[in-house]
Amino acid sequence: ELSNRLKQVIEFLPEDVRKFADIGSDHAYLPCAVCLERPHVQAIACEVNRGPYESAQSQVNKMNLQDRIDVRLGNGLEVIEPNEVDTIVIAGMGGSLIRSILENHPEKLEGVTRLILQPNIDASSIREFSLNYGYQLIAERIINDEGYIYEVLVLEKSDQAQQLTDKEIYLGPFLMKEKNSAFKEKWQHVLEKKQKIIEQIKQAKNPDQNKINLFEQQKSWIKEELQ
Ligand code: SAM
Repeated sequence: ELSNRLKQVIEFLPEDVRKFADIGSDHAYLPCAVCLERPHVQAIACEVNRGPYESAQSQVNKMNLQDRIDVRLGNGLEVIEPNEVDTIVIAGMGGSLIRSILENHPEKLEGVTRLILQPNIDASSIREFSLNYGYQLIAERIINDEGYIYEVLVLEKSDQAQQLTDKEIYLGPFLMKEKNSAFKEKWQHVLEKKQKIIEQIKQAKNPDQNKINLFEQQKSWIKEELQ
């Protein structure tokens, strides 16, 4: 049984997806689940580490999906060709790692109309990426799956310039509007942590005033939304 987190990710695969890449696929559970459910979809499961790459291969063999899921060993987008896939999934990593995987090979994003990204932390890095690379944030989800908070961000290729305020980049424009219980739980926790960090910085010999100002700004954004 697939985790709720990965089920949320799958829900954002477009109806007409033809072939997608799952970067950092580990056991290839996600592409296997999709291909078992949807007989016309093809996938590439990509892994940079040999151990997970071998687990992906054996899972694909076990499910008898070798003819529809190609398992490839290599770093990030290196192992896919431009225009080979229409959708890319990257889940279960930090947001800044996801961002750097995308930014390392922008040429591989040719023909990729949708990115479904599930950062464990630092979702704001992905919102910043979207502003600079011609993608528009079209949906966001935040969920609590067995005590852990996860965010899923969906980006779609777009010619239109997207506008996001710094506050929206930080909190997520869609998540701010929906303000569900996972959102409140996450930001309440962050607020408390920020306060502690600010106090620690103030106790240093040479307190970093820029950092304090930034954290105070973030605190006030959070407070505005948690009212
Ligand atoms: N995507 C799965 C999920 O969400 O359950 C697995 C997440 S697992 C925590 C992260 C995986 O990403 C690891 O198997 C790791 O080897 C792989 N990974 C990390 N950096 C990568 C990169 N640059 N290219 C491909 N895979 C990478």
